[in-house]
Amino acid sequence: MTDCIFCKIASGAIPADKVYEDDDVLAFRDIRPAAPVHLLLIPKKHIDSMLTTTKEDEALLGKMLALTPNLARDNGLGAGYKTAINTGLAGGQEVFHLHLHILGTPQQ
Ligand code: 5GP
Repeated sequence: MTDCIFCKIASGAIPADKVYEDDDVLAFRDIRPAAPVHLLLIPKKHIDSMLTTTKEDEALLGKMLALTPNLARDNGLGAGYKTAINTGLAGGQEVFHLHLHILGTPQQ
């Protein structure tokens, strides 16, 4: 997906404030944060949205969900956080590379 901004971030062609990376996924700070901590967790593999996932993506999606508490804790959100996956134009999705928002306010 040469025109995909998140594929470019995943490949390193466009910089991002990365907070976690492994072979399958990348997490980075949202450029327009909607909360004091606002992370985006993406698969490195291009998937348009939750409308286009297949059975083959089950393990990857499970891994992403399972990673969220660790990412949250590592970024000050150990007391709690919100997750969101905007899906499709009608669901408010702006960037068509699947991403999971992790948002919250660090507690004292
Ligand atoms: P969506 O509405 O698609 O769920 O959310 C897309 C998110 O990606 C938005 O919160 C937006 O601020 C963020 N975003 C868009 N372009 C970039 C970018 O180039 N870098 C980063 N770090 N975030 C981006």
